Amino acid sequence: MRTLIVNGTVVNADGRLDADVAIENGRFQSIVPKSGGGIVPGPDDRVIDATGCLVVPGGVDAHVHMQLDTGTTVSSDTFLSGSTAAAHGGTTTIIDFSEQRTGGNVLQSFEKRMAEAEGQCVIDWGLHQVLGGVDEQALIDTRSLIEREGVASIKLFMAYPGRLYSDDGQILRALQMCADTGMMAMVHAENGLAIDVLVEQAVAAGNITPDFHSRTRPPELEAEAVHRAGVLARVAGNAPLYIVHLSSSHALREVVEARSRGTNIFAETCPQYLHLSLEDHLGQGWPNGAAYICSTPLRSKHDHHQADLWEGLRVDQLAVVSTDHCPFCLREQKLANGESFNVVPNGIGGVEHRMDLVYQGVVAGHISEERWVEVCATAPARLFGLPQKGAIREGLDADLVVYDPAAKQTLSQATHHMNLDHSAYEGMDITGKVRTVLSHGEVIVDGGQFFGAAGRGRYLRRAVSQHIR
Ligand SMILES: [Zn+2]
Repeated sequence: MRTLIVNGTVVNADGRLDADVAIENGRFQSIVPKSGGGIVPGPDDRVIDATGCLVVPGGVDAHVHMQLDTGTTVSSDTFLSGSTAAAHGGTTTIIDFSEQRTGGNVLQSFEKRMAEAEGQCVIDWGLHQVLGGVDEQALIDTRSLIEREGVASIKLFMAYPGRLYSDDGQILRALQMCADTGMMAMVHAENGLAIDVLVEQAVAAGNITPDFHSRTRPPELEAEAVHRAGVLARVAGNAPLYIVHLSSSHALREVVEARSRGTNIFAETCPQYLHLSLEDHLGQGWPNGAAYICSTPLRSKHDHHQADLWEGLRVDQLAVVSTDHCPFCLREQKLANGESFNVVPNGIGGVEHRMDLVYQGVVAGHISEERWVEVCATAPARLFGLPQKGAIREGLDADLVVYDPAAKQTLSQATHHMNLDHSAYEGMDITGKVRTVLSHGEVIVDGGQFFGAAGRGRYLRRAVSQHIR
């Protein structure tokens, strides 16, 4: 059976067109402009009327943490609940992480994570490989993951000494491997050693309210790490480098500077840095401020971070918006270890709201509809080796969202689908709403109702990015 999406405006990263879309066997079969007559439905066609709506590629969220075991607790969305919430918000692909901790084995960590996700996801999914202990064996094993498992990206940490931290020598070795293989190196860029000193001093002085989470992680220490990562990537032979959750003007300037030197550097930001702030959110104190403890931290609204990040998205200094979805319930998890910022699990849940929250940049005039599609779908697909995703084009996977640009909604814990007892965006009134979501041509969400099923999502074997190699 053919499925037709008719009377909508198809928006891709490279332009928009009033057109009808035909889907067959899970792929886009044809896109026919209305000016050329559109598509005339046959008696057996399933027809979805998208009058007044945007028809956009399904979102690709390249940075999520479902059921992440932090050692003391586990992030509250399972692969099933988190991928279901993502689908409701118009995201049809997620990339999570398998995590090798210091001293651990890469291949075992990968097998373990595959087993956790297997049979759970309602949308397509992939994995990046975290390297928490870069040594000879870890690098050999990671290289083998490209061919064996279709893992084309690693993640390194310049923060969290003792847990996930790599020193500059370890990072250089990993980046050399990336330069050699074409793997993308995602880097959490914050100077973890310096931050730990500031945290220790703040706690000793009794400064333990949630806002001190941000005050002990100043933007200078993010910028310094971005700069250092860029230098190391160049020295390594121009390794593909991707800065995760970039939060500050300072760090953005370093990305721009590194790009001007020819560094293969890309960066993502997240909705929380575009919409939330140190004063308004972390500044609420206990208990609610704990909900906003994440790293990198929320920044001051009195600086120009948010305006600079929107501008960075507009002019492609920032390539991608991911969520870094890492939800923890407020009472049972965030506050379980006591009221001191340094013992609160780090993370914000938002996988469901990314398309909507970035769309507010269209509403406000910061970015175009095309750019919205690009940073939410096209660019992450291109950078992370998913050429079958991120565009509405003949032959690609029929992952698609019918988006009502005029609908109003209020974000709330009462209506979201994440397994989370609060919402970081509680009460926020926004314009724009997902109406219908298709994955491989199947309607999985329509009018707020869910029609998907656990395990219907496919594991995505990824190649190294053709954009860079
Ligand atoms: Zn993360």
